[in-house]
Amino acid sequence: MLTFVSDAQLMLSCAEALVRDAAATTGLRVTLSIWNDRANGIGAVVHESAVEPSTPVWEAVGWVEGGDCLAVHSPSAPTEAFPENGDRTEVTYDIANAAQQLVQVLLWRQGSDPTWPPCPEHPGRHPLRPEDSRWRRDGAVEAEGALALWVCPTGTTAIAIGDLPGGPP
Ligand SMILES: [Zn+2]
Repeated sequence: MLTFVSDAQLMLSCAEALVRDAAATTGLRVTLSIWNDRANGIGAVVHESAVEPSTPVWEAVGWVEGGDCLAVHSPSAPTEAFPENGDRTEVTYDIANAAQQLVQVLLWRQGSDPTWPPCPEHPGRHPLRPEDSRWRRDGAVEAEGALALWVCPTGTTAIAIGDLPGGPP
């Protein structure tokens, strides 16, 4: 399959939605930097804009300090069975998982409610979680209209990643 953008360009482009969501809802400035560590499956890292990333981790185990940053996989290659591998939706979903962990830890560290992004249906109860719309329970969404979403695990809230409402609290 022909690819018209590099993996790096794709990841940087998809990250814009997360940078925007974090800034618009928390004021936090996070960013994605390309990180070439194919041996460990790392294609990029998500980190505070002001921090020089040095230590990629897959899980933010309660804290982030120094150059800690959240690792993101390189886009996977499409296959016959999974032609959606490595497309915008999947890459955005993957970056959202890393960005969510980072933002939650940063909020916690500054003494703010780390529930991010908060579920508008269930205030004070839980964060939304990233989802690829192709995995939705009804299974009705065609790949063509695939979206990376913030969803409530039990309710009906589904907001496109990059479209979280609201200004900084
Ligand atoms: Zn909810």
